[in-house]
Amino acid sequence: MLLSPGGSVADAELVLVDGRRVRVPAGQSIQSALQTQGSAVRSAVAAITDGQALDFMTPVPAGATLTLVPVDSSDGLRVLRHSAAHLMAAAVQSLFPEAKFAIGPAIEDGFYYDMDLPRPLVPEDLPVIETKMRELAGQRLAYDRREMSLDQALTWAREAHQDYKVEILETIRDHGTSRPESREPRAETTSSNLAELEGEAASGTGTVSFYQTGTFLDLCRGPHVPDTSWLTAFRLTHIAGAYWRGDERRPMLQRIYGTAFATQEALEQHLYRLEEARRRDHRRLGKELDLFSVADEVGGGLILWHPKGGMVRKLIEDFWRDEHLRNGYDIVYSPHVGRAKLWQTSGHLDFYQEMMYPRMEGDGQDYYVKPMNCPFHIMIYQSKVRSYRDLPLRFAELGTVYRFERAGVLHGLLRVRGFTQDDAHIFCTPEQMEEEIARAVQFSLFFLRTFGFEDYEVYVATRPEKFVGDAAAWDRATEALKRAAERAGQTYAVDPGGGAFYGPKIDIKVKDALGRPWQCTTVQFDFNLPERFDLTYVGEDNRPHRPYMVHRALLGSMERFLGVLIEHYGGAFPAWLAPVQVRVLPVADRHHAYASTVAERLRVEGLRAEVDGRNEKIGLKVREAEVQKIPYVLVVGDKESAAGTVSVRLRGGRDRGVMPLADFVASLAPERKPQPA
Ligand SMILES: [Zn+2]
Ligand SMILES: [Zn+2]
Repeated sequence: MLLSPGGSVADAELVLVDGRRVRVPAGQSIQSALQTQGSAVRSAVAAITDGQALDFMTPVPAGATLTLVPVDSSDGLRVLRHSAAHLMAAAVQSLFPEAKFAIGPAIEDGFYYDMDLPRPLVPEDLPVIETKMRELAGQRLAYDRREMSLDQALTWAREAHQDYKVEILETIRDHGTSRPESREPRAETTSSNLAELEGEAASGTGTVSFYQTGTFLDLCRGPHVPDTSWLTAFRLTHIAGAYWRGDERRPMLQRIYGTAFATQEALEQHLYRLEEARRRDHRRLGKELDLFSVADEVGGGLILWHPKGGMVRKLIEDFWRDEHLRNGYDIVYSPHVGRAKLWQTSGHLDFYQEMMYPRMEGDGQDYYVKPMNCPFHIMIYQSKVRSYRDLPLRFAELGTVYRFERAGVLHGLLRVRGFTQDDAHIFCTPEQMEEEIARAVQFSLFFLRTFGFEDYEVYVATRPEKFVGDAAAWDRATEALKRAAERAGQTYAVDPGGGAFYGPKIDIKVKDALGRPWQCTTVQFDFNLPERFDLTYVGEDNRPHRPYMVHRALLGSMERFLGVLIEHYGGAFPAWLAPVQVRVLPVADRHHAYASTVAERLRVEGLRAEVDGRNEKIGLKVREAEVQKIPYVLVVGDKESAAGTVSVRLRGGRDRGVMPLADFVASLAPERKPQPA
C-alpha cells in the first residue's frame, strides 16, 4: 500500500513508539497500518486519539492523529493486564462452566477478577488455571469487540445466569453508570479502573460493548490486545476473598490476583521483587528474630519491644543522642499527658481532636495524652525570657506520642498508634533561619547514610491557598528549604501548594534495598504556633520579636524506622546494630566452660555475645545462628579450647578460619561503631 504523497482528508497520522510521525490511509485496521509501516507491531498495544484508547483492530479514523501506547508503558501494561484478566476468566469458565463473573480490572502491578465459583479455590488451583490460560493463549483467540443494546445485553446476561453482570447492566440502565455508590476501597481500584468500570456502557447511546475471547464473552469497554498470543508473560499470584461491590452485606466472592508483563524478563524481575519483599517483611522477621510484637490485650498499633528489638533501639538512640549533642542540640524530656488548656492554646483540640485519645479527668481537670511534643518544647522555651543571644535553641527529644489511627490502617511497625518521634524544635532569628535549615537537612542525610540509605527523593511543599502568617516570611522559608536541598547536593521536586496551612516543609524519602521509597525526614516550618503561644525573644533593639519555629524529625519515629530498617537489611543488621554480634557454639558439653570464657571476654570488650550451650548437633546450631542473622559465629572444640583460639564463621557462611581470641576481638574494632558512608 502506498502513502498518498501530499496527505489527504482520508489520511490519518500515526505517532509511532519511537516518536516518528507517519501518514497512513484511513479505513484499514491500526494493526495493518502499522505493518505497512514496517513498525514492530508488538512494541505498542493500543492507540490513543482524543483521549480515547482504541484496539489495534479498530479501523483508522479519517483525519485522526493516533498516538501508539508502548506496551511497556503504564497504560500499555494496563491493557495487557486487563486482557490477561479476560484470559484468566476464560480459563476459569472452561474449568468451572457454572462460574459467575463480577469485575476484573487491571490494577497497580497486575490484575484480578472477582467471581462466584461452585467451590472455594485452593492455591493448587492456580497452576491449573494458568496452564489452561497458556493453552488458550496458544490458540491465538481474538478479542472480538461488539456492541449490543442494553436490552440485548440484559437478555444475554440473564440467559447466561451471569447475575453480577445483570446487576451491572441494570445499574447502567437505571443510573447511566455501573457504580452509583461505590464501596470499593479506593486503594484497590485506581482512578483509571474506576473510569473503565463506569464506562462499561457507551454512555448516552443506549449500547454497551462486549469482548468475546473464544467462548468467553464479557461486558467491557476495552481496549484489549488483538489476540491471546500477545499474552506470553503472566503469572497468577494469589487468592483472596472480596465482597461484591466492596459491601460486607453482599456476597463474598473469590478474587484471583495475577500479573502480566511485556516480557518474561520483566515478569521474572517483578516476581523476584515480590518474593524479596515477602522475605523481608518486617512483621515476619520481627517475629523470627524476636524483635517486637503486638498483643490484643494491649491494643492494636501499640508495640512491645522485645529484648533484641530493644537493643537495636537502644543503639540507634545512643547514636542519635550523641550526634545531637555534637550538633548543638539540647536533649529535653516531656510528659505524656498535658492539660486541656495546653491543647486548646496549641489548637490541637480544634483541629486534631479526632486523632487524639479521648479526654481523661482528675482533680477536676481535663487531660489529654499527647499526639505531638511541640507544645511541651514551647513551654520550655517560654519558661524564661529569651534573648537573641540565646538563639538558636534546638530542643531534641525522643518523644513518645499517641495518635488514634483507624484500626483498618494499622500495619506492623509502619502504621501504629503509639510511637516515639525523633523530634526536635528549632527556635531561631530570621537571620539564622537559612543556616539552621541547611544544617537540619545535612544532619538528616548524615543519619540516613549511616543506616545504609544512599538514594533519596526530596520534596519541597509550598504555600497552599489557605495559610497563616506573612506571605513574605513563607517565601523566605520556602527559598531556604530549596537552598538547603541544593547545598546538600540533592535535586528536589516541588509540590506546589502542598504545604500545611502553617508552613512550608521539606520531606526526604529514602529508597531501600528493593528501591521502594519510605518517608523518613520532615523539616517543617511553623508560622502558627509561635503566634498562638505568643513566642518572643528580645532583639538587639531591646524589643520583642517573633522567632522562627521549625519542627523536624530525621528518622520519623523509632517504630517506623525499625520497620524500614528490618526490610532494608532483610533482618541482617550491620554488626554495629545487630542485637547479638557474636554467638559462641561449643562443639560438645566439655567445651562449655571455654565457650563461656570466650563470651565473657567479648562482653568485657563491649561486644554483644552469647553462648548457645544447648545439647544439639553443631551443624544445627550453626544453621540457627544463620537464621538469626548473627554476624559472627565462633565454633569452639578441643583444639580451640586447648590453644585459646576461636574458629570464625561470618554471616552468609564464609569461613574466616581459626585465630587467637585477641586477634578476633581486634578485627572487630571498626565494626563496633556506626560507619557513616
Ligand atoms: Zn474487561
Ligand atoms: Zn513539632
